[in-house]
Amino acid sequence: MAAFSVTLPSGEIWTPKFVSSLNQDTCIGCARCVKVCANDVLQLAGITEDGDIVVVDPDNEDDDEEYERKVMTISRQVNCVGCQACSKVCPKKCYTHAPVEV
Ligand code: SF4
Ligand code: SF4
Repeated sequence: MAAFSVTLPSGEIWTPKFVSSLNQDTCIGCARCVKVCANDVLQLAGITEDGDIVVVDPDNEDDDEEYERKVMTISRQVNCVGCQACSKVCPKKCYTHAPVEV
């Protein structure tokens, strides 16, 4: 087994690090990460006072009474290409990434 990697046109070997987890306790729901992800991996959600996760409709500003705070979620992890752009823009260091063994 070895870490999945690709050879770039320059000949350099690149080892992608795929998103593996997101700490919702430290996430402030700023949405910087979802704006830089080009692969539809992340989705903004709300946490209710009971701790339930509810979908946030970005076009409906009146639904913020349904939840206590916003958090990011990893909704389509399989789409991740391992670029780590989300991690680079996150002000709270919420993300963990890892290479994939093949
Ligand atoms: S590593 Fe890249 S593709 Fe994966 S979730 Fe982060 S920004 Fe999206
Ligand atoms: S950038 Fe970080 S703090 Fe902001 S929503 Fe994404 S995970 Fe949460």
